[in-house]
Amino acid sequence: MPETTAMSEAARPDTATVLAGLDAITGWQEELYRHLHAHPELSFQEEQTCALISERLEELGYAVHQVGGGVVGVLANGEGPTVLFRADLDALPVTETTGLDYASTVTVTDDEGKSVAVMHACGHDAHITCALGAAQLLSEGRDSWSGTFVALFQPAEEVGKGAQSMVDAGLVDTIPRPDVCLGQHVLAQPQAGHVATSPGPVLSAGTSVRVTVHGRGSHGSMPHLGVDPVVVAASIVLRLQTVVSRELAPGEFGVVTVGSVQAGAKANIIPGEALLLINTRAYSEEVKERISAAVERIVRAECAAAGCPAEPDIEVFESFPLTDNDPDVTARVTEAFIEHLGAERVHELGRVPASEDFSVIPDAFGVPYAYWGFGGFPEGQGVPNHNPAFGPVIQPTLRTGTEAAVVAVTAFLAGPAGGAR
Ligand SMILES: [Zn+2]
Ligand SMILES: [Zn+2]
Repeated sequence: MPETTAMSEAARPDTATVLAGLDAITGWQEELYRHLHAHPELSFQEEQTCALISERLEELGYAVHQVGGGVVGVLANGEGPTVLFRADLDALPVTETTGLDYASTVTVTDDEGKSVAVMHACGHDAHITCALGAAQLLSEGRDSWSGTFVALFQPAEEVGKGAQSMVDAGLVDTIPRPDVCLGQHVLAQPQAGHVATSPGPVLSAGTSVRVTVHGRGSHGSMPHLGVDPVVVAASIVLRLQTVVSRELAPGEFGVVTVGSVQAGAKANIIPGEALLLINTRAYSEEVKERISAAVERIVRAECAAAGCPAEPDIEVFESFPLTDNDPDVTARVTEAFIEHLGAERVHELGRVPASEDFSVIPDAFGVPYAYWGFGGFPEGQGVPNHNPAFGPVIQPTLRTGTEAAVVAVTAFLAGPAGGAR
């Protein structure tokens, strides 16, 4: 057996007693989930969501801090380790097509005055509900463990800036330093009722880059008097295909996608500029840096080759770090999942190409972390996150996400004070 179970029985929390409260919270959890799903808020606009979370944490006896657009509840419960559990809050600019009776009809007006539909298409409403459920169970079950539990609710995950916003606002000096950080995400796989995690890299590092190519506009009949940015953009798109195929070793993971190319408006006008939006993914910071350097080199070289009158503008507007699960922490989480959920409900997560900014928080404290997925759909009916039809089944999704949070958190807390059971 791994040494995590070698501690004396008296030193371990009574997780089963904490979980015994699960049936009693199902009612408000389902109601809250429907409310949150119907009232999504975009990144850095999570005001109503934060107000609701703060109020509930205060009722549960947590010391509540507002930090960088997010909320942190701290439950100090005697001697022992400090365990941080993180949930994210934001929704996406997606028009919901689930047809659920609690589907979002929310729209907001963007900077350009356009109406934008908002939807919890990534399941962060489930994350909030499960984290608040775990917060209640750990508060009401405080005679069964000792230590400090930190429930952290982070804004703006979808734009990769919310965790950093909390760190920049002084998170490290506001709350007790955790010994370990934990986080979870509802996914299309495994099936609802199941969880999945793996040691090492589980989510990719990702960047989004905006490139502006400066050409020289001209009449479409007089290309010799201009520098055609459409041709430069086309060359860049093709040449970028060699980054993964020719510069990474076979078997090394990387993705370079040009998601948007925009230039010009008429057939007979050579435009002055072209705009490209480029997304990259990697499973190591080293490969991420190598890809970024290759993208920049190719963009600059193609502009130089065409004789562009000015250097291109290259702006990184989103950057997600690697999510790299600590092997020891992940082993302990996995063991606790197997003990309390049963081995048949615990799976390997493997590598998911999506990205997260969760690791910014443990990295700010310099502490290890583990991240896992939990299912939101019946077997074979999974809908991918960010899809307009992303509508997880309410149960067993909420129940499993809450159980997983409690089980993982208590795996790192100490037993009740004095060893009483
Ligand atoms: Zn998402
Ligand atoms: Zn998400």
